[in-house]
Amino acid sequence: MIAKNYIDLGIPYHACNLNCHYCYVGQREDKGGRGHTSETELRYSIPHMIKALSVERLGGKSIINLCAPGETLLPSYIVELIRGFLEEGHYVTIVTNATLTERFKEIALIDRKLLERLFFKCSFHFLELKRKGLMDTYFQNIQLIRMMGASFSVEFCASDNLEEYIDEIKDICMKEVGAYPHVVLPRTDDTKELMSKHTLSQFNEIWSVFDSPLFDFRVKYWGEERTEFCRAGQYEFLLNGGNGNCSKCYKQGVSQNIFENLDKPIIFEPVGFKCKMPHCFNAHFFLTFGCIEEINDVTYAEVRDRIDINTGEHWLNPTMLEVFSHRFNEFNGRTTNDKV
Ligand code: SF4
Repeated sequence: MIAKNYIDLGIPYHACNLNCHYCYVGQREDKGGRGHTSETELRYSIPHMIKALSVERLGGKSIINLCAPGETLLPSYIVELIRGFLEEGHYVTIVTNATLTERFKEIALIDRKLLERLFFKCSFHFLELKRKGLMDTYFQNIQLIRMMGASFSVEFCASDNLEEYIDEIKDICMKEVGAYPHVVLPRTDDTKELMSKHTLSQFNEIWSVFDSPLFDFRVKYWGEERTEFCRAGQYEFLLNGGNGNCSKCYKQGVSQNIFENLDKPIIFEPVGFKCKMPHCFNAHFFLTFGCIEEINDVTYAEVRDRIDINTGEHWLNPTMLEVFSHRFNEFNGRTTNDKV
């Protein structure tokens, strides 16, 4: 099982039931929203969106990542969208705060065979979960994910004011999911710089205690300008779910619209040597899947999975473990000698 592409589909929904102080989306909202999540509603029907991203049109089963500026599982249409992509044959990943139990119950009604291709990235918003009394709900929903046969990952944003809770975070995650959570770096939305009073090296020292391959990988490449040939745009792209506009990567502008005319072929064209970002701040999904062939430290599976020491089970089920373990150049033996 090798997927062909990774499509980061921005769900145009801006409300959230939490209010995290480090939320980069909040920073963006203050400035009016932008990018592939800038719309406020779907201009096209769900069946139209599924058709636009059919396996046939994409040229293979792909990983479709659903992520809203607000909480991804809040919009009423979200279950229909998830089911549609799963029925089409794709692998679906969802970024969620994992607090909306009723949505998980609805999703659990989808055919179990399809749910094997579903993954939830459960953001662990420790302080908000405490403040709102949702800690048990969060972990009970992860139990629901496990029971439905889908996959999950737990990760949290290492903001400075969580330092005093490191032991508590470790303990609760060991108890509930049998492993430490993965760790991501807080950032400013504008400049993508580390949002911390610490230097990167101090920051690394503090948070590496979680032994998170996701964190280690991101720290390793954080702040480095990328000058290699990059296949973002060819292997992965950003899609505005509100209107169908696609960008090869951040700051690359709109390269095509894939919702307007479904007879028009999708163009898979790499960014090449024209990266416009100061650093690859989302390297964990662009680079682990092989957008830059020279960077092959870890797979996406390694930055998402853990083994639950209480049960011996992986957070990723066998299907997702396999799909996330491949790079996109393996799909149909794609060649890597077409650099321009
Ligand atoms: S930000 Fe990363 S994925 Fe995007 S073009 Fe630059 S190197 Fe490639």
